[in-house]
Amino acid sequence: MKVALQNLTKIFPSRDKKAGKEVVAVNDFTFDIPDGKLIGLLGPSGCGKSTTLYMISGLQKPTSGKIFFGEDDVTELSTENRGIGLVFQNYALYPHMTVKQNILFPLQNLKGADKMSKEAMLERAEWAARLVQIDDLMDRKPSEMSGGQQQRVAIARALVKMPRVLLLDEPLSNLDARLRLQTREEIRRIQRETGITTIFVTHDQEEAMSISDMIVVMKLGVVQQIGEPQEVYDNPTNLFVAKFLGTPPINVFSGKVSGGKLYIGQDAVLEIAGVSDQEVTVGVRPEGFELAEDGKLHCQLSNVEVMGRDVSIVSTNEASLNPMIRSIINADNKVDLANKVVSYNVKPHKLFLFNKETEERIPFEVK
Ligand code: ADP
Ligand code: MG
Repeated sequence: MKVALQNLTKIFPSRDKKAGKEVVAVNDFTFDIPDGKLIGLLGPSGCGKSTTLYMISGLQKPTSGKIFFGEDDVTELSTENRGIGLVFQNYALYPHMTVKQNILFPLQNLKGADKMSKEAMLERAEWAARLVQIDDLMDRKPSEMSGGQQQRVAIARALVKMPRVLLLDEPLSNLDARLRLQTREEIRRIQRETGITTIFVTHDQEEAMSISDMIVVMKLGVVQQIGEPQEVYDNPTNLFVAKFLGTPPINVFSGKVSGGKLYIGQDAVLEIAGVSDQEVTVGVRPEGFELAEDGKLHCQLSNVEVMGRDVSIVSTNEASLNPMIRSIINADNKVDLANKVVSYNVKPHKLFLFNKETEERIPFEVK
């Protein structure tokens, strides 16, 4: 089921009537979520992810704008009638019910033409339990299960009505690191198996990048960029997006374009065309540095961290806007910590220029 948002906006009145300003939690969102895809709504806490999801679910009413499921305008439809499945961060299972009863619950509440026979309900509950691989835990109570298992039950309960759209709000946040990894792969598998259009909300860029067909990067209620994860990583539209995606994060320098050369501090690191002389902000991905004896960018070596396959070199440079510069290079490269200076060449496709004031990306050509 394709989901389309049209100028979707949510404004919360100020809590403090005198001093406070209203909050534009979601500002004029217009985009399509393609049928059968998993899309990640991504951004820092408070950027409007949950509000967007709640409006799609019908739990919150938009201030303006419309929501379509396929051709149907569902903006005024109640949550029950939208055909959605919802999963929250805190599993929200009924503690006194068994797993089976929890999963059956949404089916038992169906009314009218949707009403199901007891056998059909049981069959459906077992299908959902098998899908999330908890079919051997059906008689347990939530308190007798791990967080990961509880979240699987919550997902089964959201799937049991075969929703048109599955909405997940930070579903992995309460799980420990390993379970988080495992469960996110499970969610991806379940989504592929069922083909249900899924909207996955997270503040964790790695999580969103790893499982989404498409990500929507948001900041303060405004969509910054929409695209396939790799595409957004390789072509960030502005400094915020460049900084938000990637671990370790992108290295940021103050720089200058002058006479066709790009300078970081005193070092002319690249010959470029198509940019007028100006001060710029320069972003270099950690994998964008190449060690070279005659490398053009000179940094003061602080530390070398060996991480098996890769080496992470920590250095400093006066032009760096972060305390430390972190480069990731192949572990075959030997770096002598006794050296005071480390010299790099910079891979042009891993380097981005941004307008110093607006922080928008500046395109350039390599000479
Ligand atoms: P996220 O899920 O990305 O962390 P939210 O959608 O929860 O962000 O919140 C977006 C903004 O809207 C925040 O500034 C938040 O404080 C505000 N907000 C959310 N819900 C309410 C509400 N019920 N009343 C007032 N402000 C709200
Ligand atoms: Mg939230």
